[in-house]
Amino acid sequence: MATSAGAVEEFVPEFAEAFPFESFNRMQREALPAILDTDDNVVVSAPTASGKTALAELAICRTLRNDGTALFLAPLRALTNEKEDEWDRFEELGYSVYVVTGERDLNPRKAERADILVMTPEKADSATRKHDSPRYSFITDVDCCVIDEVHLLDSDRRGAVLEVTISRLRRLCDTRVVALSATMQNVEDVADWLDAPPEATFEFGDDYRPVPLSAGVETYAHGDNAFADKYRRLYRALDLAQPHIEDGGQALVFVASRQDTVRAAEKARDVIAERDIDISSRGDYDFHTDAKELNNDTLRQSVVDGVGFHHAGLSREDKNRVEEWFREGKIQLLFSTSTLAWGVNLPARCVVIRDTKLHDPLEGEVDMSPLDILQMLGRAGRPGYDDAGYAYVVCDGSDADKYRQLLRDGKPIESRLADELDSHLNAEIALGVVDDIEDVMDWLETTFYYTRAGSAPDKYDAADALRERVSATLEQLVDGGFVDQSGLEIEPTGLGKLTSQFYLRLDTAEGFYRLCERAADDETPELDESAVLRTVADAGEFDSVSARRDERETFGAVLGNEGDDLDAGNRKVLAILRAGMDGTTPGELQSDAWVIRQNALRMLAALRAFCERFASPRDANLVRQVEARVEHGISEDAVGLTAIDGVGKGRAQKLASEGLETPADVRAAGVGGLVSAGLSEGLAERVVQQAESLPALSFEWSGVPDSIPEGENAMAELTVRNAGDGEPAGVRVTVNGVEMSEETRYLGETTLPVGVFGGDAEELTYEVEVAFSELPLVPITDSRTVSVER
Ligand code: ADP
Repeated sequence: MATSAGAVEEFVPEFAEAFPFESFNRMQREALPAILDTDDNVVVSAPTASGKTALAELAICRTLRNDGTALFLAPLRALTNEKEDEWDRFEELGYSVYVVTGERDLNPRKAERADILVMTPEKADSATRKHDSPRYSFITDVDCCVIDEVHLLDSDRRGAVLEVTISRLRRLCDTRVVALSATMQNVEDVADWLDAPPEATFEFGDDYRPVPLSAGVETYAHGDNAFADKYRRLYRALDLAQPHIEDGGQALVFVASRQDTVRAAEKARDVIAERDIDISSRGDYDFHTDAKELNNDTLRQSVVDGVGFHHAGLSREDKNRVEEWFREGKIQLLFSTSTLAWGVNLPARCVVIRDTKLHDPLEGEVDMSPLDILQMLGRAGRPGYDDAGYAYVVCDGSDADKYRQLLRDGKPIESRLADELDSHLNAEIALGVVDDIEDVMDWLETTFYYTRAGSAPDKYDAADALRERVSATLEQLVDGGFVDQSGLEIEPTGLGKLTSQFYLRLDTAEGFYRLCERAADDETPELDESAVLRTVADAGEFDSVSARRDERETFGAVLGNEGDDLDAGNRKVLAILRAGMDGTTPGELQSDAWVIRQNALRMLAALRAFCERFASPRDANLVRQVEARVEHGISEDAVGLTAIDGVGKGRAQKLASEGLETPADVRAAGVGGLVSAGLSEGLAERVVQQAESLPALSFEWSGVPDSIPEGENAMAELTVRNAGDGEPAGVRVTVNGVEMSEETRYLGETTLPVGVFGGDAEELTYEVEVAFSELPLVPITDSRTVSVER
């Protein structure tokens, strides 16, 4: 049978079944030879929905033909999962697809064997950082890396990660790069950066858009009350959406937050009823039955009116159903946060951006990024269903010109590396990718930052100034103790490596280091909980946190005077951590608490590692306890229970209320005791088994007398034995509160000398304290008393 022009069968017969259509479209046919017949790096920018996924798949086909491994970088976790499902089609052809998600779930064998790897830029960053370890060595075998939505380069925080990761990957394995992007102004800069030749650089304009787009800016009458303004914008959005809904089309309205999606949907249902807008799904009884399956109650009531909401807090099943019903037209009006714009492909005839400003828990009120705006607007127009797409930004009059210009001209992709140059350069040095001064300059030249600076000298520094800036940054790293330099050679220090490993800002790492120095210094007070919390809350990562008035009013109740010299934002973080430790976060502090706690937990894990290295296991253990309390919201006396795998807040509190406060208590109580405390038998067995692997110590003091004559002395010994699994620990012996010996070891078993001297004191109290640096167990102690005879 003759094939039609552009038939998939003709170009990739062996993969034809992996494509969901039979012939390539005009855009795909034009880009196809560069992707399929050469090894050139390729850059393609084309409108949303023009069919770029097929280009990614063609690049993958070429790699598979050559028995190579392809890596697909997707901007969101949700998309990596979507690809896993879609690419079952490759699995059916005998190729394996592996999505790299969390550290814990990583299956190195599967990753090693995979033909197609799928990751987010953040995962690729961490994998390339660990390429030396056997678990992550698979990352150095990549032959072709496909970057989806490469314009993510210009995204706040995430852009620099993508940029350095690609530069690093190319240094590590000289991979081919195929980069895909929505329409952008400066495709040549990206092509230049990636060394894509002109014949492999494609810029497909609006005439390749499957559905023509009409986009505009609509202003609203701005008042004094932010709450009322939201409703004004909602009415505006509904005015814009109404004709499309009445005409049987769909509208997707983007709002600032998860709660806003819910509130806006609720209000919209009222307005629709008032205005008597005809939404088609109302009389669909099967749909009413299906809707009963939804987990979210509010959503269930809403969708039967044809109005839905979608945000990252919904369960996976609910999200899937909402997406499916929107595609089927059962939901005609959908409120969503911006994540949907980067996530699943869910176009709508009409897209409205109701909010251009949003509250970020770490940054306060911010403008939605122009990149997000364009990404959202790009979702207007459903190929195959709509003749045209309509997209609107609703904003204040004073912002209208800004958005009009954005819609008209788009936006050049900028590098975001300059903002975080110091920590990224530190990471490259810590990794050993860069090991002398010349390498540092070579590295600079592989960044998009350098390329873009060359093409937009008015916005960036000239090449010489950039080099100077990098030299100055390197000097700063050496001065700060992150890097050792001798002559031209440079080497990471322990501090530099830990800083990179935990993705810390450099000033934060310096603060942590100073805290460790104070903790290790005998002259200064020992580390305590307040110092730990304060150091984290005051870190630069939290400098932009803002505190509303109602939030400030809770500070006194939570903190008393603690931290009253901190900025309000940092004090808010302190209050959230303090209250969170006991699981008593006041309602006013709830809205940002989750994000702040997650960030604080990452920093506490870092501080623990710093203490282990630069202070003592005892200090590390203290930080570990704080970390567990912040994570679980659990009182100090029961925190040790969280060391048991599978015991979180609820179970720990239940056990503690029955008087079982430590893993040792749990072991002593046994399965029977736990069942009496209210656990089911199966659970009790698992908990006891887990508790048995935790340290169980016994102490043997041999040769320590009950009394000793004044002026005499005796040599005795202390043996500490751990019957559980081995753990890093600090063992410290004091006499009358003064330290006699301290050692850090993997415990095991250890014997320490104990000198008994009949001196001035009437009594000698020997105390041993064992602190586990990686477990939230309260330190375990034992003691002996010797009286001095006079
Ligand atoms: P983009 O990544 O450019 O936004 P997609 O690759 O997701 O766009 O494609 C948009 C839609 O068009 C998808 O549903 C896809 O299956 C469909 N599509 C892409 N190429 C073709 C083609 N050649 N023939 C028919 N449908 C296509």
